[in-house]
Amino acid sequence: MRNGRAWGQSCPVFIGNSVSAPPPILPNPLAGDPPAALGVLGGGQLGRMFVHAAQTLGYATVVLDPDPACPAGQASERHIRAGYDDPAALNELAALTQAITTEFENVPAQTLAALARTRRVAPGAEAVAIAQDRRLEKAHFSRCAAQGGVAPAPYAVIETEADLAAAPANLLPGILKTARLGYDGKGQARVGTRAELSAAWAGMNRAPCVLEQMLPLALECSVIVARGRDGQTVSLPVQRNLHRGGILAVTEVYEANVPLALAARAQQASLTIADELAYVGVLCVEFFVLTDGTLVVNEMAPRPHNSGHYSIDACDLSQFELQVRALAGLPLTQPRQHSAAVMLNLLGELWLNADNRGRPRPPPWPQVLALPGAHLHLYGKTDARPGRKMGHLSFTGASAHEARARALQAAELLGLESWP
Ligand code: ATP
Ligand code: MG
Repeated sequence: MRNGRAWGQSCPVFIGNSVSAPPPILPNPLAGDPPAALGVLGGGQLGRMFVHAAQTLGYATVVLDPDPACPAGQASERHIRAGYDDPAALNELAALTQAITTEFENVPAQTLAALARTRRVAPGAEAVAIAQDRRLEKAHFSRCAAQGGVAPAPYAVIETEADLAAAPANLLPGILKTARLGYDGKGQARVGTRAELSAAWAGMNRAPCVLEQMLPLALECSVIVARGRDGQTVSLPVQRNLHRGGILAVTEVYEANVPLALAARAQQASLTIADELAYVGVLCVEFFVLTDGTLVVNEMAPRPHNSGHYSIDACDLSQFELQVRALAGLPLTQPRQHSAAVMLNLLGELWLNADNRGRPRPPPWPQVLALPGAHLHLYGKTDARPGRKMGHLSFTGASAHEARARALQAAELLGLESWP
């Protein structure tokens, strides 16, 4: 087992096979007791929905994000406006909270490690550092695959000219991905030949990269797991995802959205990936299903994930409540999906349609909300830009047919492309 125990004070004590976790941080204490406050690094929409879930359970929240208008800062009781490496701000965050999480994976791993000296931090710095770097991430997946898990795409690490020259021919055509800081398809180039590979790597300033074989995808899916400090794990149902332009567009979750045997394998592989990191918190693992039915693991996000947003409306326990519970050390119970769900991402383009005076026009929410089972979530962003995630719309239904039919109607009202 990998020693991912970078959470300092909260480091569990292994006694034989069992793990003793520290006592839970109980919400809503009475006057005179220390306030129960949870901190979150990052103020985007994931932080905002974490704050909502924490507040529902009776916790106070403190968000650290330099942006004064950030979505989570608007929702939280406290918002510290500072950078993620500002020592005074990190001290203030630690002083105001009992436990701290992160809503984005590019938070400096040293920040998590520093906070973990005095506070419970989940996920831990080591797990986040692995998820931040595709080289470490793929090596972790390969180790898990060797234990009967699911393998990543064939790949090679490119760090030097010699690596480039030695890249196996079977990786072309392929995708060159920067090892660090890629998201929503950024930091990636599709390459067909060695000449294109060289040019693409030069275009990435010869930063460390991985070259992955281009695979024939039949579909994409993801699994969200939550793991407690005591090693207990639960998972959400497998999500089927459709991307457009490298950005998640649609997530569909209902029985047999993915062939059942593959769904079971993806869930088992995700639990192994979390266990082998001694992970604490919510983790999302993305998979490909190839045209020949092979399951391939793509990447992981050490936090709640866009493909899990449907769980707020369609499950009895959302990915955000799971994150709150795992962080606070409260019990994790197996979530139950009570409704079929289809989620549509709402990107900035939707707002950029002009009215007849040339001004941006809000999308037709009254018509959309007239559809039964519609749940609109807007993130409080006032600056619409193409590709910017402004909100999402989940449809719940008694059947997959019902949820899909309404989501397709909404897509038509919003001018979004249909999907099969
Ligand atoms: P995210 O927004 O999920 O963080 P990302 O920028 O980190 O995305 P990936 O998930 O690696 O990037 O890739 C984005 C998309 O590109 C995938 O969802 C998939 O559609 C496509 N893709 C990535 N790798 C491959 C591959 N090896 N073969 C075929 N398609 C791929
Ligand atoms: Mg991805």
